[in-house]
Amino acid sequence: MENQYYPYVNLPLPYPYHAMEPWIDEKTMMLHHDRHLQTYVDNLNRVLEGQPELQRLSLEQLIRCGPDLPESVRDGVRNNAGGVYNHRFYFKLLQNPAEEGPVGKLGQAIQRDFGSGLRFREQFKKAALSVFGSGYAWLVLDRGRLKIVTMPNQSCPLEMGMAPVLTVDVWEHAYYLKHYNVRAAYLDDWFRVVSWEQAEQNFLAGMLP
Ligand code: MN
Repeated sequence: MENQYYPYVNLPLPYPYHAMEPWIDEKTMMLHHDRHLQTYVDNLNRVLEGQPELQRLSLEQLIRCGPDLPESVRDGVRNNAGGVYNHRFYFKLLQNPAEEGPVGKLGQAIQRDFGSGLRFREQFKKAALSVFGSGYAWLVLDRGRLKIVTMPNQSCPLEMGMAPVLTVDVWEHAYYLKHYNVRAAYLDDWFRVVSWEQAEQNFLAGMLP
């Protein structure tokens, strides 16, 4: 991913806003990227203004160091570095049409750790539905095993030393215009546009020592 350092810019999506239709609508994609993600980018730059030591850290390093940062910037970094990283990660995992998955090495690991692709999907959906308020459900690698975790707001599994593989944004702004308050319907539609290829790349990167 490019632009890993301050000053951060809101890179364009790698596909048109309407690319995920009819599963995720064009207006949602546009507002999500151009307004919500843009705000995190702007706020992150603002938090890092006048902080040359923090400016030298990459986006991932900022998140990993989050708990050790001075209190004056800790929340600002967690919310906004997380907001930038998590959204980039989410958008990059969308593809339409998407292949049936999971396949390949990630498919094998999902079978090993969840029993089957179907059981994984059920558990992932249940986890995503269980997020109270705003947050994300994540598939992560934790010490070589796959695990489903949920995180509130813009917290990120990198903070806890886990490698992210797949995520779904369940903030209402990710689905409200099309799916209203029916998060389950959004999740079913989101599963139609998961880039399993990208998820496998994330998985293989996470397996590296
Ligand atoms: Mn979002």
